[in-house]
Amino acid sequence: MNEFHKFTVIEALQKLESSPVGLDEGNLQERRKRYGWNELPEVERKPLWRILIKQFRNLLVVVLLLAAVISYIMHHVVDVYVILAVVLINATIGFTQEIRAERAISSLNKMLVQQARVRRGGEIRLIRSRELLPGDVIILEEGEQIPADARIILCRSLRTIEASLTGESLSISKQDMALPGQTPLADRKNMLWKGTFVVAGYAEAVVCTTGLQTAIGDIAKTLAEIKPERSNFQRKADYLAKQMAVLAIVSTALLFTTAYFSGNFEMQELLLVSIAALVSVIPEGLPAVLSIVMAIGSKRMSRRNAIIRDLNSVETLGSVTTIITDKTGTLTQNRMMVSRIKLFNEVEFEVSDKGWLPTRYFRQHQAIVDPGDYPILNKLLQIAACSNNATIKYNVNKEGYELMGDPTEGALLVMVQNADLLPSLQPGVIEKLDDLPFDSKRKSRATLCKVEAGLQLFVVGAPEHILEQACQVLSPQGVIQMEETYASVLRKQIDEWSGKALRVIGLAYKPILDGIIKIDENDINDLVFVGFVGMIDPPRPEVKEAVEKCKKAGIRVIMATGDHINTANAIAIATGIIEGNNTGQLGALTEQQLLLLDDREFDDAINTVRVFARLTPGMKLRIAERLQAMGQLVAMTGDGVNDAPALKKANVGIAMGIMGTDVAREAAKVVLADDNFATIVNAVEEGRIVFANARQTSFFLVTTNFAEVTTLIVLIAMGYPIPLTAIQILWLNLVTDGVGDIALATERGHGDELSARPINKKENILNKEIFPFILIMSGTMAILCMGVYLWFIGLGLEKARTAVFITMASTQLFNLLNMRSLKKPIFEIGYFTNHYVNLALAASWAIQIAIIELPLFQHIFGFTPMTLVEFTALIVLSSSVLWIGECYKLFLDRMRAYMGRIRLMKNEPRLFC
Ligand code: ADP
Ligand code: MG
Repeated sequence: MNEFHKFTVIEALQKLESSPVGLDEGNLQERRKRYGWNELPEVERKPLWRILIKQFRNLLVVVLLLAAVISYIMHHVVDVYVILAVVLINATIGFTQEIRAERAISSLNKMLVQQARVRRGGEIRLIRSRELLPGDVIILEEGEQIPADARIILCRSLRTIEASLTGESLSISKQDMALPGQTPLADRKNMLWKGTFVVAGYAEAVVCTTGLQTAIGDIAKTLAEIKPERSNFQRKADYLAKQMAVLAIVSTALLFTTAYFSGNFEMQELLLVSIAALVSVIPEGLPAVLSIVMAIGSKRMSRRNAIIRDLNSVETLGSVTTIITDKTGTLTQNRMMVSRIKLFNEVEFEVSDKGWLPTRYFRQHQAIVDPGDYPILNKLLQIAACSNNATIKYNVNKEGYELMGDPTEGALLVMVQNADLLPSLQPGVIEKLDDLPFDSKRKSRATLCKVEAGLQLFVVGAPEHILEQACQVLSPQGVIQMEETYASVLRKQIDEWSGKALRVIGLAYKPILDGIIKIDENDINDLVFVGFVGMIDPPRPEVKEAVEKCKKAGIRVIMATGDHINTANAIAIATGIIEGNNTGQLGALTEQQLLLLDDREFDDAINTVRVFARLTPGMKLRIAERLQAMGQLVAMTGDGVNDAPALKKANVGIAMGIMGTDVAREAAKVVLADDNFATIVNAVEEGRIVFANARQTSFFLVTTNFAEVTTLIVLIAMGYPIPLTAIQILWLNLVTDGVGDIALATERGHGDELSARPINKKENILNKEIFPFILIMSGTMAILCMGVYLWFIGLGLEKARTAVFITMASTQLFNLLNMRSLKKPIFEIGYFTNHYVNLALAASWAIQIAIIELPLFQHIFGFTPMTLVEFTALIVLSSSVLWIGECYKLFLDRMRAYMGRIRLMKNEPRLFC
C-alpha cells in the first residue's frame, strides 16, 4: 500500500522521479520493465474441467444411467454402451456450447478500451490507460474514471465518488495538501483511486501506483466473484423448460399406463421405453441452446457497434417501445463549427465553417475583414479561448486536427484559431484561477481569469440564460446599460438562428474584486453581455433511415435535448422525428412548459409530443419514469454525469462510447461505440433476432418431441409392439436434435424483424399463436411415422422400426429448414444462407445412413438394411413436412395481408406511427 498522501506535491513528484509536466518520452522503456502494465487480471474464466463436470451433473444423466442399469439387468449389454455413448455425446454438445457462449461474452469485455489524458514530454496526449506508469501526470475532468492511484498536484472544485472502493455513495471533495501518515484510505483527500470517478471539477495528479499495486487491485479478487443475476430471458427459458417437463411427465405417464394395460409388454422393457420417452421429451438441451443464442446475439450487436455491458439487455432491446435520444452527437455529427458571430450594433460576422483547419477567414457582407479591428470581437474571442477546456492538435499520423474535450468548446477554440489571435491568449499570458465546467442543469460554464484589466469572470452558455443574467452590454463606446429594446433584438436573433438548426452560445463577462480565487454558480449574475456565436452541427446522414425503421417497427422516437427549442425542432424535422408542417399540438415542449402541466396533462404531453428542449437531466428522468409507469419499455441515451440516474432507471440505458463520460458508461447497459442513433436501431433489430432464434430453437425441439411421443402412445394404444427401441429414441433425441438445434441458434435474421411491433416483454417463448404451427408440424410427423410403421410391419418388426427411425430422423431434419423462420418460407430466405444448418443436415444424414447401413451399428441399434429405393421413398415422403410447413406460412402471410387491408379499410390508427 502506498503512502503518498503524507508527502507534499513536490516530495511526491521527487519520489516518483517526475515533474509537473510529466515524464520524458525517453526513459519509459525502463519504467515499463520495472512496473509492468496498468491492468488488473481478467476475471478468471471457469476452468475447462469445471465446465465439463457440469455437463454430467444433471437429472438427465441420472435418468440415463438408470436406463443403463435397467438395460444391464436385462442383459442388453450393447444398449448400455449406446446409452453411455449418448451421455458422452450429449455432454460434448453441452460443453462446446457453453465454451462458445463464454468466449463470446468474455470478448465483449475487451471492447471498451479506457483512455487517459497525460502530460508527456511537455505535451498533452491521449493514451490507453493500460500504458500508464507511476510518475505519469494525468489530467482529469468531470465524468472521467480515474485510471490509476494518483496523488493530486493541483485541483479546482474537485469532487469524486468512491463508492466502488469504499461503499460511500456521496461525493467527496478533494484537495492537494499533505495529510498525516495514519489517515485512513477513505479520508485521504489528496489521493485519487483507480476505478473511482470524478463527478465535478478539474485535477492534475501524478500516478503513484498502477495495476495490482493499486487499492482496487488489492480487492480485485473479491470483485471477480460477483455472480451475474438471472436475466428476464433466462427466467423465460426456465419457464419454458418447466412447461416441457410437465409435458414430459404427463405424456410418459400416459405412455406407461397405456402400455401397461395393453398387457403386451414385459415390465423391464416397459420401464426402459418409458425412460427413453421421458428423456426424449425433457428439453435437456434447451438452456444451453438459449444461452448460446443470447451470446451470439450480444456478439453480433457488438459487431454492429453496440457493446453490451449487461446481458439482460440483449433481449430487452428487442422489446423496446420508446427510444428517448439525445440530439447532440447521437442524431447529429458532433462536429461543431462556428459559422456566425453577432455583436452589439455590428453587422453579423461569418466565420469559415469548413473544418478545423485554421483558415483565417472572417467576413462581413462577403468581404474579408481583420478581426483585430474590432475590440468587442476581441473580447468575445478572449472569453471563448479562456473559458474553455478543449484542446485541438494536429495529429501527424492521421493527417488531421484532433479534438480533446467537449465539441462545443472545441468549436469555440477553432473560431479563435481562425482569428489568428491565439498566441496572445495562451495560458501564462492569461492566468486561469478557477473554472466551473459546463453543467447541463445550469447550462453554462464559467472561468475566473486574470487579464490586464484585473480579475474577470468569463461566462459561456445557453444564450437565454446569459441574457437573463446580463444587465450591461459591451458596445463600441464601452460598457452600457442593457436596454429592453436591445434585449428583444437579441432574443429575436436567437430564435432566428436556432430555427436554422444553429446551436447558439452566449458569451459574457463580469469584473471581480481583487483577491478572490474561487467562484461558484452564485457568481454568475450581473454580467456584461458581449455577443452570440451560432454553430452548425449537421445531422448524421444515416439517422433519417433509422428513424423511419423505428416507425415501421412500432417504436416511438423522442428527442430530449438541452438545446434551444428551435434548434431541436429543426433537427427533428431534418431527421424525420417530426414532420415539417407539424407545428400545432405535436410541436416541441420545453422544460419550463412541462413544469406548468399537472400530472394528467404531463402524461398526455409525453404520450404525444416527440421533441423536448432545454431539458435538465432531472426532467429526463421524470419523463422516462412516467413512460415506464404507463407500460412503455424505454431505451434512453445519456452522456453526462447527471444523466446517470436516468440511465439506470431506463429499461435499457445507453451511453456514448466516444463523447460520453465514464460515469454515464458505468451506469448504462449498452455503450454505443460510434455514438450513433442508427446503432441503437441495429441493436434493437439484433435483440428481436435473439428472441426469434430462441423461439425457433425451442419450437424445433418441441415439435420433434411431441411427434415422437404421440407416435409411441398411439401405436401402443392400438396394440402394436413398440415402434422404436429405447436406444433408437435416445439417439434421435440427443444426437439428431442436438446437432440441429445448435445450427439453428446461429440464424441471422431475415430482414423482417423491424417490420413487426415490439415483442411484449411479458410474452413467453411458447405462445398461443404458435400452437397451430406446432400441432400441424408434429401432427404431420407423427402421421407419417405411424403410416410407415403400419406399412412396413408386415415385413417384420425390425424392418418397421428401421423405417420409422429413418422417417423420424428425416422429418426432424426437414423440420430444421422449416424452423429457420417462423414467418418467411425457406425459398424466400434462401437455402444456402445458413451454412451451419446445411452442415448439420449433411452430417446428420451421413450419420443416419452410416448407423443404418454399417453392419456393426446395424447390430447395435437393431436395424435391418434398407434398399436404395426404400430409403429414397422414405426421404421423399418425409420432405412433405417441409412443404406443408411452408404452405402454412404462406397461408398465414395471406391472412395477415388480408387482416391488414381490413384494418386499413376501417381506418384503425396504428399506435405511435
Ligand atoms: P444537448 O447536449 O442536448 O445539446 P446540453 O445540455 O449539452 O444539450 O446543452 C444545452 C445548451 O448549453 C446548448 O444549447 C448550448 O447553448 C450550451 N452549451 C452546451 N455545451 C456547452 C459548453 N461546453 N460550454 C458552454 N455552453 C454550452
Ligand atoms: Mg451536451
